[in-house]
Amino acid sequence: PSPAAPDPQRGAAVKAADRAHVFHSWSAQELIDPLAVAGAEGSWFWDYDGNRYLDFASQLVNTNIGHQHPKVVAAIQEQAGRLATLAPGFAVDVRSEAARLIAELTPGDLDKVFFTNGGAEAVENAVRMARLHTGRHKVLSAYRSYHGATAAAINLTGDPRRWPSDTGAAGVVHFWGPCAYRSAFHAADEAQECERALAHLADVIAFEGPQTIAAIVLETVVGTAGVLIPPAGYLAGVRELCDRYGIVFVLDEVMAGFGRTGRWFAADHWGVVPDLLTFAKGVNSGYVPLGGVAISEKIAATFATRAYPGGLTYSGHPLACAAAVATITAMREERIVEHAAEIGERVLGPGLREIAERHPCVGEVRGLGVFWALDLVKDKETREPLVPYNAAGADNAPMADFAAACKRRGLWPFVNMNRTHVVPPCTITEAEAKEGLAVLDEALSAADAHCR
Ligand code: PLP
Repeated sequence: PSPAAPDPQRGAAVKAADRAHVFHSWSAQELIDPLAVAGAEGSWFWDYDGNRYLDFASQLVNTNIGHQHPKVVAAIQEQAGRLATLAPGFAVDVRSEAARLIAELTPGDLDKVFFTNGGAEAVENAVRMARLHTGRHKVLSAYRSYHGATAAAINLTGDPRRWPSDTGAAGVVHFWGPCAYRSAFHAADEAQECERALAHLADVIAFEGPQTIAAIVLETVVGTAGVLIPPAGYLAGVRELCDRYGIVFVLDEVMAGFGRTGRWFAADHWGVVPDLLTFAKGVNSGYVPLGGVAISEKIAATFATRAYPGGLTYSGHPLACAAAVATITAMREERIVEHAAEIGERVLGPGLREIAERHPCVGEVRGLGVFWALDLVKDKETREPLVPYNAAGADNAPMADFAAACKRRGLWPFVNMNRTHVVPPCTITEAEAKEGLAVLDEALSAADAHCR
């Protein structure tokens, strides 16, 4: 795809109005310099000055189907012309069809769908459902996690970004999930990490009191906090603990779901079925805000004759549901999930491992499908992170230099703390993936300069 003719004047006007009036999320307003984007297609977007960027971030890891997929755009336009809005209490063809498709794709008996406007709201509702279902209050979640930026979701989030807005909600308890590379348990290998992480979780449950715990909330594959693949047996072990104590098992697949890992849902890799599964992002690639909770029979039965107290004005919006139906249908027709698995196995994985060998700053490569992270270090031996948690200013220079080097070469990276994630659209072509890897390879030299 090639950008339309550059129009720097228009770009400057867009940017001036943005600077004057838009209050940006997760940002110090005067320290940021947002790129003015003129258009996008497939794996690319471009600015008004004639620069184009390969989207190795899929925006916020959500445009799984790529930018401006013609079938999804047409479905939204068609729906807008037919029935642009309708309250959640009505039965609407596209909402029914989106729910039917999601029920069909999600594992096990997750056959009812509660729609939300995004991921955090899905997590909020999963927690509410679990509390009402069990009559218990406490919720357990992992330190290395991200569950969203609303009230319950930000408190469940374990990664250090929550610190400034974490009010320390009563009843939220954090535990250590498995992460063999940065083991909280000093484990020697994956099998030991799994065993010790499960023993630790069992201890946390025992000390908190199983009869007080409503839910365990886990990302199937931890996303924002580092692309952490659970060791074999871990999720099955958590399922077993939940069954033993009547705890609701919530898998958060907001980032991992809808093809990102090379399966429809990451849970499919391990054959684990949660009681509730949260989704958003890839469900319609973010063309219109949508998320939701897929609900098991057991939990749905709790609300058969008792009202569920939740829902917003725009829940299950027809435009968002039309986009979901079109996205899922196109992903099936074009075998996009299979493509994501293949490109990960054949191109991204081997390519990133090769890059890691060349660069002193790459401590570990982790991932599957189109869901990868490079854990950058000062020293491969000690594994000291290249920058401290929540580094700012000069402390963050190594990551800022690396990101700038990528952007100068036409690649938009996903950088978080001491990691760069490689999370392109599921539709990325082999040639694009190789082009992106070549840019990463060059740009990592900027980070190498900060190694010991
Ligand atoms: N859960 C996970 C696993 C996520 O990755 C995210 C967002 O990155 C969320 C929840 C929150 O989703 P949203 O930003 O749509 O509210």
